[in-house]
Amino acid sequence: MEIYLADLYSEVGKELFFEEEFIPQYEDLFFVTPVHIKLKLVNLGREVLVKGSLRTKLKLICSRCLKEFPYELNIRIQEVYLWDIPIQRNIGPGEIIELTKEDFKFVLEKESLFLDPLVEDNIRLNIPVKPLCRPDCKGLCPVCGQDLNLEECECSKKAKIDPRWEPLMKFLNEKGGK
Ligand SMILES: [Zn+2]
Ligand SMILES: [Zn+2]
Repeated sequence: MEIYLADLYSEVGKELFFEEEFIPQYEDLFFVTPVHIKLKLVNLGREVLVKGSLRTKLKLICSRCLKEFPYELNIRIQEVYLWDIPIQRNIGPGEIIELTKEDFKFVLEKESLFLDPLVEDNIRLNIPVKPLCRPDCKGLCPVCGQDLNLEECECSKKAKIDPRWEPLMKFLNEKGGK
């Protein structure tokens, strides 16, 4: 996906609006709704300001109960691109160089802005490392694997018994077993 910049390039201060809906094809991510991207580009002279938003819904797997759930992404985008002015530097051996802000900006061709990396980076950086289907997900019982959101299992009930009662419980169990 590309935005053509010839018109934007023609004049400093010029603005360009871009809106698109599409479903990205990434092997490891499943989109429930298309990605909706809305951008405003401003020609700042040497740079282009790219500002806007990205909205979509993904299918993620809860890190506690292992169930799939829809996760909504609502991302603010703000990047500064540099027109294709190469950053030149003469570095001697062993010389220490100081990086300036400009070293971290994306370099842009006059003809077009290729959007795919911007879209993919923003999506991936905003997916939680440990997704949760809900903040209070109880997860699975480590002993029997029961989904504790649905029902408590016998082992999780036992684990909750006040330790002070344990000798009595043991006594009763032994008595009952004979
Ligand atoms: Zn969960
Ligand atoms: Zn259990």
